[in-house]
Amino acid sequence: MLLNVDLALRKIATLVRPVTERESVPLVDAVGRTAAEDVVAPIDLPPFDASAMDGYAIEATAADHANPKRFRVVGRSVAGQPARETVGIGEAVRIFTGAVVPDGANAIVLQEDVTPAGDFVETSAPARVGDHIRERGQDVRRGATLYRRGKRFNVFDLSRLAACGIANVDVTRRIRVAVFSTGNELVAAGQPLEAGQIYESNRFAVMGLLRDKAVELVDLGCLPDDQRAIEDTLVAASGKVDLIVTSGGVSVGEADFVKDAVERVGQIDFWRIALKPGKPMAVGSVEDALFFGLPGNPVSTIITFLLFVVPTVDLLAGGESVPPLTLPARLGDAVKHAVGRREYLRGRVDIDTGGQPVVHLTGDQGSNRLSTFANANCLVVIHEDTGDLQVGDAVRFMPLTHPLTSFDATQE
Ligand code: AMP
Ligand code: MG
Repeated sequence: MLLNVDLALRKIATLVRPVTERESVPLVDAVGRTAAEDVVAPIDLPPFDASAMDGYAIEATAADHANPKRFRVVGRSVAGQPARETVGIGEAVRIFTGAVVPDGANAIVLQEDVTPAGDFVETSAPARVGDHIRERGQDVRRGATLYRRGKRFNVFDLSRLAACGIANVDVTRRIRVAVFSTGNELVAAGQPLEAGQIYESNRFAVMGLLRDKAVELVDLGCLPDDQRAIEDTLVAASGKVDLIVTSGGVSVGEADFVKDAVERVGQIDFWRIALKPGKPMAVGSVEDALFFGLPGNPVSTIITFLLFVVPTVDLLAGGESVPPLTLPARLGDAVKHAVGRREYLRGRVDIDTGGQPVVHLTGDQGSNRLSTFANANCLVVIHEDTGDLQVGDAVRFMPLTHPLTSFDATQE
């Protein structure tokens, strides 16, 4: 029986025990980390009524309808240097973007709408109360919950936290992840290739993708197809890490020992997914470490990593796992698809001449064809209940976006 992708994700969620250890980190180190507690705004933002433009601060209630109108300039408010003067009716303070709106003023007249005349300025457009003023607390209210526990911080969040004067945040500790590949045929890049050997590539994808996550990586290299060696490595790793991710050896071939090894020293919870590419993926545990045996075919490794390992790392860190964003588009190429397995095709989304998104496949989609990623900017999702599709049919695609700016849809 093949397990549906969504069901597999739900099962994985039940297997994860999130880490509880936490630490305080400076903001520069907080990107990708998960909030260990709610973050509350210590100040209003902006902290004072501020001018949004260069111009003149005036009292607008009395000035509303009479234009042109003359104002006597009584002071100057620059960012970081507030004016000491109070603005009375018929008076103005020269003001610049980011400067404190002086007492008595309630509108900013743009400098392009005034004509200076000695100690006076003459306005040519009516002003309304509140014009070009960023009210205190307009962006963030003191005491408001900025982020909930479980929030994974992105670069925009760091900027907002810093703007609120928060220098350190409490986050869960980094997830420790051990990675190894298996296969007698595998050789490290840089070495000569003997007959029948291929270069090992999966660890580069796995470790590269993990680098965008808040993890401590333990690179265990490449193991031969030797069940004993694999068992020993699994046991040794399980005492040190939260998660073990391997590639290869989870199918039913005679040299596929990884699943058997896990079954001997731990347990397999499930291992066949209704997914293409990536059908044989084993999920289980060794001691307290979760185990993911990703399939060896390089494209399958990447797809299963993106679909299953990424949300698992997020959950382990105490965060939520947010389903990846998918967007609608039209197919630019026909797709042959048999009902039964969900398929993720490497594609390129572009805007067609009619202004609509259209996805083209990046060539033959064999699970060994790493070149299909070369021009890809998305994964085209073909649902398991779908049959063959024609050019112009509606599909959804998952943008291959950069994780440092990704956001959690569940946060306010
Ligand atoms: P397996 O799942 O071990 O049967 O491997 C499936 C296919 O992926 C075989 O053609 C392997 O040679 C290839 N493969 C397995 N592991 C790797 C790896 N780490 N790097 C590149 N190719 C691999
Ligand atoms: Mg193998």
